[in-house]
Amino acid sequence: MTADIGVTGLAVMGANLARNLARNGYTVALHNRSVAKTDALLEAHGEEGRFVRTETLAELVQALERPRRVLVMVKAGAPVDAVIEELVPLLDEGDIIIDGGNSFFEETRRREESLRGEGIHFVGVGVSGGEEGALNGPSIMPGGSQESYESLGPMLERIAADFHGEPCCAWIGTDGAGHYVKMVHNGIEYADMQVIGEAYDLMRSVAGLEPAAQAEVFREWNTTDLASYLIEITSEVLEQEDEITGRPLVDVIVDAAGQKGTGRWTAISALEVGSPVTAIAESVFARSISSQQQLRSQTTQVFSSGIDEHAPTPDYGPEFVEDVRKALYASKLVAYAQGLDMLVAAGEEFGWDLDLRSIASLWRAGCIIRADLLDTIMKAYDVPASRRPQNLLLAQDFTEAINECLPAWRRVVAAAATQGVPAPVFSSSLAYYDGLRRDRLPAALTQGLRDYFGAHTYRRIDQEGTFHTLWSADR
Ligand code: NAP
Repeated sequence: MTADIGVTGLAVMGANLARNLARNGYTVALHNRSVAKTDALLEAHGEEGRFVRTETLAELVQALERPRRVLVMVKAGAPVDAVIEELVPLLDEGDIIIDGGNSFFEETRRREESLRGEGIHFVGVGVSGGEEGALNGPSIMPGGSQESYESLGPMLERIAADFHGEPCCAWIGTDGAGHYVKMVHNGIEYADMQVIGEAYDLMRSVAGLEPAAQAEVFREWNTTDLASYLIEITSEVLEQEDEITGRPLVDVIVDAAGQKGTGRWTAISALEVGSPVTAIAESVFARSISSQQQLRSQTTQVFSSGIDEHAPTPDYGPEFVEDVRKALYASKLVAYAQGLDMLVAAGEEFGWDLDLRSIASLWRAGCIIRADLLDTIMKAYDVPASRRPQNLLLAQDFTEAINECLPAWRRVVAAAATQGVPAPVFSSSLAYYDGLRRDRLPAALTQGLRDYFGAHTYRRIDQEGTFHTLWSADR
């Protein structure tokens, strides 16, 4: 039996993608470094479709129709290079190696360039949606050559999540573009979760709403323009009781957020391409602060809140909760605007002509940041190129939404500061908005200082050219 595609690396993601392919009618050749995983998959799910069992990469390659397609789903990093090294001598010109793991985009660019020289297509594919998505339909972001997409695209589109008949899969751009877009998707996901956390903290610490009551609030919010997967599951997490203590489960979970690295990569790449993704970067830093538990427990004993205990406490009732909803929405818009801006900057840097409308469309199902908001984002870019907003916040729907949320957003950021509740993304997003909106920024003074101590020169508002001032007669 000749297989349509081979999958090597049958841990949870590879196994689920292989099953997804088989359930969609493809014959899938299976390989894993340790054969036990291959056999376990066949034993548990072998009846789901047509599988070809192989024990070595040579057998896997032999089982494939041409041009061969080999999906590599091993641990990101050195294992990907090890598998490529073993695979390449077994392949022919025109064959395709697909890396569906969470590889760093620069590594994908390096691998693609090196394999291009050997006539082999290397396609870095961003796959979002975790194990459940891999099995039932992920959001898929393929990079690599356009030519390889002709052979691979129909297959990926068939196993991708379906949004009202449209597959959540489209060619993103050459070499590492697919992995890059997946990385930024994860960065946005960090910010999305952080703003939810800030809303929860403010409603609990300032308005005194217990988790069970907040579960209702989030359920209600999921019927507004905030409607999204993450808001939906927030209500479920908040209403969960701990079986051992009977307390809200959220109260017995250690408050140190983990990270696997894609948020950090997003922030680093944003710094490199000069794109101010403050909401995403603050979300990464917020996780880092949460993990400094020893330092936090020390400083809790030492630092005071500085809150005037005699000052009358404002009424933080239902109106405050609605204010928080608006602050959350506005901050979320900023995070998406920044993520998409970063894609434009990266596109210029790496030579990708990224289609933001198409990218937003891929995130509507199968992935963690799926949200009603993405339809409005698509609409913003669904205009002739000359009318596309330079920043998402400039699209009419979003300008109106921000204007509507603005007074509440300011009140919430002020309440966070006066009540001593950290809200790094609510406040940095507002600062970003104010930074974009301001006609004059104190950067003029920064330039003056730079010229003073380092003769870095400055430009004037009324003349062309660069200028330097002899600031002090003593110098
Ligand atoms: P994983 O735990 O990242 O990797 C385990 C797999 O890699 C096993 O099949 C293992 O083989 C193989 N492997 C490790 N080192 C190897 C080497 N040197 N040579 C050959 N094979 C090697 O698996 P995963 O969680 O399924 O993730 C796979 C990829 O998808 C990763 O890049 C991950 O970041 C990405 N991803 C994961 C998720 C998720 O929710 N888990 C979501 C999106 C993307 P053995 O069985 O022989 O050890």
